[in-house]
Amino acid sequence: MDDYHSPQTIIAANWKMYKTRKGAAEFFDNLLPLVKDQENLVVVCPPATLLMTIADKYADCGVLFGAQNIHWVAEGAYTGEISAEQAADAGAQFVICGHSERRHYFDESNEMVSHKVDAALNQNLRPILCIGETLEEREAGDTLEVLREDLFASLATVEPTTDIVIAYEPVWAIGTGKVASPADAEEAIGFIRAQLRELWGELACKVSMLYGGSVKPENIAELMACPNINGALVGGASLKAESFAAIINYKK
Ligand code: PEP
Repeated sequence: MDDYHSPQTIIAANWKMYKTRKGAAEFFDNLLPLVKDQENLVVVCPPATLLMTIADKYADCGVLFGAQNIHWVAEGAYTGEISAEQAADAGAQFVICGHSERRHYFDESNEMVSHKVDAALNQNLRPILCIGETLEEREAGDTLEVLREDLFASLATVEPTTDIVIAYEPVWAIGTGKVASPADAEEAIGFIRAQLRELWGELACKVSMLYGGSVKPENIAELMACPNINGALVGGASLKAESFAAIINYKK
């Protein structure tokens, strides 16, 4: 990847554990006519069971696909897991690493996340690294410290690259309907970029940084107006084609 680009705008959908083939086909039938003129990168991360089917069926529709999780080991006796190579083979070009639901429900540590990011990059998958504070941490005034710790530890083994995407996802805003104010999101993402600059130098200015947490058609424009925010990671509002299309087509 060249060194002279500004961060790409990326609108990514995280479908979590929702949809089967029928729902996915209905979604794309409705979505594609609504987003045919947009210029930004659109990524859909479906459940692993749908990845190959929809990546094959919609290969040339302008949408890219991502996995929601991978194991960091290349292959082996890890029942229920998928490797970076398998995700790439199924058609993924991106993979979400360290989503807060995986950190909290499945005890993923920063160390595990760092190895997942490495495993993804080794297979030419672009990791979407998620970090964010809990409500308790925010209320204790620890937000910036938590972000710094998560960022540095989640990148401990990772070489500098603009292939990575970083998503700031305050845990208290995910799936709750409570969105961070644009000022708070900008402050956090500006801080993350400054920390990444300390670690990786000027390359940090070219890394796409997304906001995630109750993004909707009604709040996307004000979030995207913030200088450090280069896109969004969208959960609930990405499940309906109409609302995801409205987010993709936000008015500048
Ligand atoms: C997410 O799952 O990454 C997310 C941001 O969810 P929601 O948009 O539903 O808050």
